[in-house]
Amino acid sequence: MRILFKNATLVTMNKQREIIKGDLLVNDSVIEAIGPEIVVPAERVIDLHDDLLIPGLIQTHIHLCQTLFRGLADDLELLDWLKIKIWPLEGAHDAESLYDSAQLGIGELFLGGTTTIVDMETVHQTEHAFQAILDSGLRALAGKCMMDNPNADIPPGLRESTVDSLQESVNLYEKYHGQGNGRLEVAFMPRFVISCTDQLLKEVSRLAKEKNVYIHTHASENFGETKKVQARYGLRNIALLDQVGLTGPNIILAHCVWLDQEEMEILVNSGTRIVHCPSSNLKLASGVAPVPELLKRGAEVSLGADGAPCNNNLDCFVEMRHAALIQKPLQGPMVMSARQVFEMATIAGARAIGHEHDLGSLEVSKKADLAVISREGLHTWPNGHTDVYTQLVYQVQASDVRLTMVDGQIVMHNRQLLTIDVPRLKQRSAGSLDRVLKRVGLI
Ligand SMILES: [Zn+2]
Repeated sequence: MRILFKNATLVTMNKQREIIKGDLLVNDSVIEAIGPEIVVPAERVIDLHDDLLIPGLIQTHIHLCQTLFRGLADDLELLDWLKIKIWPLEGAHDAESLYDSAQLGIGELFLGGTTTIVDMETVHQTEHAFQAILDSGLRALAGKCMMDNPNADIPPGLRESTVDSLQESVNLYEKYHGQGNGRLEVAFMPRFVISCTDQLLKEVSRLAKEKNVYIHTHASENFGETKKVQARYGLRNIALLDQVGLTGPNIILAHCVWLDQEEMEILVNSGTRIVHCPSSNLKLASGVAPVPELLKRGAEVSLGADGAPCNNNLDCFVEMRHAALIQKPLQGPMVMSARQVFEMATIAGARAIGHEHDLGSLEVSKKADLAVISREGLHTWPNGHTDVYTQLVYQVQASDVRLTMVDGQIVMHNRQLLTIDVPRLKQRSAGSLDRVLKRVGLI
């Protein structure tokens, strides 16, 4: 099926970073043509009246399993936030609550123009979140969370042995990797060093190499976390990850706030992917990641909202705005440009997950993952003289997104979700949260 978008301002994010006034033709799941005027027969023609057409936004660190717990874990630091609130809640999920939690998150992502995520799920029943991803049309690199350390205060609902953790991760990979026309890819996801045994970390590295699988984990998010790693291993966190084989271009590390010079060198030299999560870092009082310095050294940095309970939104426009603003009081107003930040949310996100060849920009033969942004609101008007990156990073809000397409499928149009039954989801997810809260004794 051919869908023709007419009269757009295309923010291509191609190598030349061209902004083109014109049309874009989608044929099934790929972009077939881009040009000033495309005249071909199409089953559907959508006139964009100069709206912005952008590559679908890519968030490389999200926890869909936590969306249900939004607003239930405020004003805590990371380690308390996990132990007091998030781990018990994650451990009390059932199949339906996990599915609903994922769908809630996916609906919000589509309404905000996000088309691809890296999703760390909880320890058990991951297949239900995978099913929500497949049913909704989202693109994701997802995996079950691995946490096998018997000394890490892990609640009963999340405990697992090293062998089971590895086996379940491999099973999920073998069953789901590549499903949904390739939209769902599966990675290995140890939660962070202190929730894992070193045996597990080493085995994850070995298996990932053997099977050519991505690895996603949290690293150096919180000062206390880095001190615990140092006390256990006598090494800085990134040095330890490097030693167990968890650095390199197929490793995606969330946060990287507490780094010394040597750790930055390790990350840059190994080509390890870094995910900046500024809202989460602010809310959990984790700190400010040294993103300008990392970028200057040539590090690979992309963006993510993290989970709903530490943000409390999954809105990439908020993340872009925070990424740009958070550095300015410390390093001056020019330290991060709007264009640099928009790159982090598009082409750099595609590079992080090994999809620079088919995602992250609007180019012929790439996947048709895109979003349409209205500039008719007063907060983006008049728009004839404003730089589009300035508009996208500092002005546009998620509610300005008029259409979201993943893999050639329109998943949201005119603020209506087309693959998610919203009234049903609202009713189901309210019941799901009640069941989880009853299980942990909170109601
Ligand atoms: Zn996280």
